[in-house]
Amino acid sequence: MTLLDLLTLGRESDFGSERGVSCTGELPAASDPSLVERARVARSALGNRAMVLGHHYQRDEVIEFADITGDSFKLAQSAAADSSAEYIIFCGVHFMAESADILTSPAQKVILPDLAAGCSMADMATANQVNECWKVLEEVGVADSTIPVTYMNSSAAIKSFTGKNGGTVCTSSNAKRAMNWALEQGEKILFLPDQHLGRNTAVLSLGLSLEDCVLWNPWKPMGGLTSEEIRNAKVILWRGHCSVHGRFSLDTVHEVRERIPGVQVLVHPECKYEVVSNADVVGSTEMIIRTIEAAPAGSKWAIGTELNLVSRLAKNHPDKSILFLDRTVCYCSTMNRIDLPHLVWAMESLVNGHLVNQIQVSPEVAKFSRIALERMLALP
Ligand code: SF4
Repeated sequence: MTLLDLLTLGRESDFGSERGVSCTGELPAASDPSLVERARVARSALGNRAMVLGHHYQRDEVIEFADITGDSFKLAQSAAADSSAEYIIFCGVHFMAESADILTSPAQKVILPDLAAGCSMADMATANQVNECWKVLEEVGVADSTIPVTYMNSSAAIKSFTGKNGGTVCTSSNAKRAMNWALEQGEKILFLPDQHLGRNTAVLSLGLSLEDCVLWNPWKPMGGLTSEEIRNAKVILWRGHCSVHGRFSLDTVHEVRERIPGVQVLVHPECKYEVVSNADVVGSTEMIIRTIEAAPAGSKWAIGTELNLVSRLAKNHPDKSILFLDRTVCYCSTMNRIDLPHLVWAMESLVNGHLVNQIQVSPEVAKFSRIALERMLALP
């Protein structure tokens, strides 16, 4: 920890994270009975000057005020497609707001209602750690033939690193195409930061073996690997994971199948390899929604993704039996930081002429991040 880290600790930034830790200003009380009405008034006062984006994992009370709902990439694209909104109020997490800032015009301002809404997975790969890893790959003599591929769920700094080093961003829907493309450009992939998405795609979609993949542990010298292991690997997986999807286990899959005969297990590819390889259907958040929409009445589903989304799907499809794959309740705690008090506070501040919680990516980082994002958009 540096002196600067200590000085800024608790003051809207977190030395170990891409996100902040606090919001300035007076938040309305969560118990305020006029909160919904205040949100309606502020939203209507902002009119077309603002666009409210809501990620699928957000609470219902927030989704109610979203103009567009979607996964991280769809929301960033929506923000970029509408240059008329001066304010993009991003109800999601920090890396998503960064992507929106990168893809929107300089005149548009991206606002994250709570600066503490980060992503534990994105925090698992810091720029310093990734630069250290790249140095080792250079020393071992494989950096020139390694193509970095970073999941959308990473900080702008990591996207920028990827863009600078000939790599691309990917989402959970196009990870297969991104990794195929990367193996055409080079001999191996450095996949950041989600080991599970990387492994699941490499083995279950690309047909590589588990032995073709090695795990880079950023907390160990040389990632905990030997030079030979690095040279022999086709995919170097970063040791990161999603704290929500990473908690589903093979036991939960067996248990739900025993308990509910005929149930189909539908999971996100951020889940562990043994969960994904034993599921009936695997897909991105958007694909999970489409699967449930298209499912016949009376079908039974155990879904392994964030609980706000699973609860909403259950509520919107009462003719189907929909339950959370795990018996233990688990929300994405950082997504859940965005609640109605924060949204009301952000919107009322804008109505009163105060720009709060703006997320801005530096021009240099934005430039190379955009290159990595554009490579993804151009994927065959
Ligand atoms: S659900 Fe997982 S990947 Fe998504 S924001 Fe939460 S911690 Fe990050």
